[in-house]
Amino acid sequence: MKVTLLHYTPLQICSNAIRTCWQSFDKSDNGGEKDRELIDRVGNKFKHSSTLEHITYNFYILGISRALLQELARHRMASLSVKSTRYTLKELKNEEAFTINDKERAKNYLVYTGVDEVDEASIKSLENLRVILKKGISNDKAKYCLPESYKTELTWSINARSLQNFINLRSDKSALWEIQDLAREVYNTLPEEHKYLYKEQIK
Ligand SMILES: Cc1cc2nc3c(=O)[nH]c(=O)nc-3n(C[C@H](O)[C@H](O)[C@H](O)COP(=O)(O)OP(=O)(O)OC[C@H]3O[C@@H](n4cnc5c(N)ncnc54)[C@H](O)[C@@H]3O)c2cc1C
Repeated sequence: MKVTLLHYTPLQICSNAIRTCWQSFDKSDNGGEKDRELIDRVGNKFKHSSTLEHITYNFYILGISRALLQELARHRMASLSVKSTRYTLKELKNEEAFTINDKERAKNYLVYTGVDEVDEASIKSLENLRVILKKGISNDKAKYCLPESYKTELTWSINARSLQNFINLRSDKSALWEIQDLAREVYNTLPEEHKYLYKEQIK
């Protein structure tokens, strides 16, 4: 998987929003230590968490499975625009047949688990799908036999309050291994000056 941070809100927007409540704009140090401490105190310690919603991140997430996608989509306080299988399955049509010996080529389409039996079953599913598409069956029908390991990509936008919840739940060892990887990748991609907001959540 590859996670790219496309855009983010500077911390100063959030500290400014907090200072709106007290009209204490003159105390700002333009996103410096005083403002960072204010965000942590009000947003986290005082649980005035809605102030954290002023910080938004836009990510591009590449090469995750559709198994992970359905878990990611459960996080309602986020926005997703996902590569559509309805419009893009034709990418498989021009491929040569896949056998279990084509692991490298099939990797363009599949997320592997590292368990040979499972990964080979995924390749067989991919081949089943390719044959169906070659027969001219429409994407809308063919997509129903996609393996969950089929790779997808999306633009994902989320605010800091919701991202704290996501990282807390999904970097935990009780979460699915692939979403744990995603939660850590997302955290690693954050701007260094933002990471302190997630120190209580990242595992
Ligand atoms: C280890 C693990 C195992 C899981 N297993 C399953 C499973 O077996 N089956 C399954 O269906 N799901 C499962 N889930 C998904 C889980 O139930 C949540 O849907 C998912 O983690 C999203 O969390 P969330 O609702 O906090 O996030 P979001 O949807 O982003 O919501 C963020 C926060 O907003 C508030 N909120 C959002 N919507 C409402 C609402 N309608 N009413 C009140 N407050 C709201 C809550 O405070 C919530 O925490 C699992 C999750 C984890 C981490």
